[in-house]
Amino acid sequence: MAVSAYDPQNIFAKILRGEIPCNKVFEDDHVLAFHDIAPQAPTHILVIPKGAYTSYDDFAANASDAEIIAYTRAIGKIAAAAGVVEDGYRLIANTRDHGRQDVPHLHVHIIGGKKLGLMLPKD
Ligand code: AMP
Repeated sequence: MAVSAYDPQNIFAKILRGEIPCNKVFEDDHVLAFHDIAPQAPTHILVIPKGAYTSYDDFAANASDAEIIAYTRAIGKIAAAAGVVEDGYRLIANTRDHGRQDVPHLHVHIIGGKKLGLMLPKD
């Protein structure tokens, strides 16, 4: 099955264009991070690249080295600033249909602030 093209009307693209607000926690030339609108733990932050990438595989294949370095370092910095490094946290990048990705712009969830449940619920 072909992988879908980037949809510029997705909600995170609208946040990047300033068309809808977000509760921002970090921004640099390549990265924006903001609190999830429906947090699933005391810390629930979404980290997105500013470039138009649908998924981590798209990003890994097509982003510049500068974008990849900035994104990787930002995730670490944001986790540290959120205060979850010592106790631990989880990074999640839901991807397409089987991964149950709702918003088709790459985002990594940083989730922590409490002891989380099992990584995958039993079906
Ligand atoms: P996913 O299912 O991995 O695509 O996750 C999408 C996430 O985006 C969900 O956790 C939503 O709660 C979150 N979300 C959707 N709209 C917004 C928004 N406008 N601001 C912040 N988070 C959002």
